[in-house]
Amino acid sequence: MEKTFRLAEHFISINGEGQTAGELALFLRFAGCNLRCEWCDTSWACGSDAPYEEVTTDRIANIAEEAVARGVRNVTLTGGEPLLQPDISVIINRLIELGLRTEIETNGSVQLKYFCSPRRPVFTMDYKLPSSGMEQHMLTENFPLLREGDTVKFVCASREDVLRAKEIAEKYRPQCPLYLSPVFGRIEPAEIVEIMKEQHMGGFRLQLQLHKLIWAPDKRGV
Ligand code: SF4
Repeated sequence: MEKTFRLAEHFISINGEGQTAGELALFLRFAGCNLRCEWCDTSWACGSDAPYEEVTTDRIANIAEEAVARGVRNVTLTGGEPLLQPDISVIINRLIELGLRTEIETNGSVQLKYFCSPRRPVFTMDYKLPSSGMEQHMLTENFPLLREGDTVKFVCASREDVLRAKEIAEKYRPQCPLYLSPVFGRIEPAEIVEIMKEQHMGGFRLQLQLHKLIWAPDKRGV
């Protein structure tokens, strides 16, 4: 039987964050998430009532080929939680074969070892901090699997979150860049900088989500 996937939306925009921030990327957003973060900005794509189109591997490959023809070199699989789609490895391998830098935005609650084949994608893995209400779901065994091209993203809504990010990084020492990303409207970036200075957090980078600065914070498809 042909494999199908629940695609909530797809569009080309710039990467709003991470190591290729500002570069064009194809975004594939898959429906469904196993977490319910308190400050989720894509909750419309998470529940059982999330709108989606049932698509085949070939359909996704066609979308990706069109993006490549338009000069796009990056693809980001996001959600929801993209790694919950059954057989998502088929899509990941196809996108890598097309020569795209294939990045997975994953929420930290899914085992990454199943996706760490030699031709693996790039992971941007969240570690959910106390304000999300989801920290108990984090799988810390993922940390040793991360490499230089990957990223750990700590989304911070409070001072307590920033301090917890420091604690987690010191404990697990992931071998990749560490980003602190403020929850829009919950903590000022300047406050995070002050905490970084006060706590000697030289190993972290503050990142602001570019798409929220360029477009309205709640705008979809950008
Ligand atoms: S893991 Fe991501 S998509 Fe899922 S609820 Fe949390 S913020 Fe939203």
